[in-house]
Amino acid sequence: MQPRKLDIQGIGMTSQRTRNRLIARLREQGIKDEAVLQVMRTTPRHLFVDEALGSRAYEDTALPIGHGQTISQPYIVAKMTELLLAGDKPPPKVLEVGTGSGYQAAVLSPLLATVFTVERIEPLYLATKALLHALGYRNVYPSLSDGSWGLAREAPFEAIIATAAPETVPPELLEQLAVGGKLIIPVGKQGVLQTLQVITRETSESYTTVTHEAVQFVPMIQAKT
Ligand code: SAH
Repeated sequence: MQPRKLDIQGIGMTSQRTRNRLIARLREQGIKDEAVLQVMRTTPRHLFVDEALGSRAYEDTALPIGHGQTISQPYIVAKMTELLLAGDKPPPKVLEVGTGSGYQAAVLSPLLATVFTVERIEPLYLATKALLHALGYRNVYPSLSDGSWGLAREAPFEAIIATAAPETVPPELLEQLAVGGKLIIPVGKQGVLQTLQVITRETSESYTTVTHEAVQFVPMIQAKT
């Protein structure tokens, strides 16, 4: 994504209508958390995709962001955010693996105290870091790093959200969860649908897994050991 002058205010009436349509669609698909719906309504997704794709930014589809990667479908962003917020209080410190366009991190930002996010592709990391800064997301901390190792220097996390799919869950992500914390992660092979899993660290030694719907994510590139 090339840096460009940001038109933050000028979304126009048409865009507001399209945004409202998207929110209606998310409701129909079962998103219930009003705080999530409100953030999805106000987050300028058109600024997280290339200008040429801006007119499609409020469709409920994944879109290319270069480097063979995609910005996730709004429904999936809403669903994962809702799963992350389910519970008594929002998890204060969260790690996202797979910054990509920065859209998921931007949606999390107003809902949480602190969001760490890691990306392994340097040009994406640089462009997205600049964009998040320009848009004023001050509680989002991007790093250039291989997220299949987690982010040990900031662990433990009350929640970890992965927006790229590994074939098997990296043990580091489980180890870096606080007790009571949860990992929201698509798991499975490429080319077939993966399953969205929520893995909760019940005690220091035990985890429980709840499997949600079938999803399709780009691969989490796993570090060679
Ligand atoms: N959350 C993003 C989704 C981007 S797609 C958004 O809202 O736009 C997933 C991203 O995960 C890609 O940018 C990809 O480069 C990144 N990724 C894949 N494997 C990774 C790894 N091991 N560490 C960090 N990032 C990774």
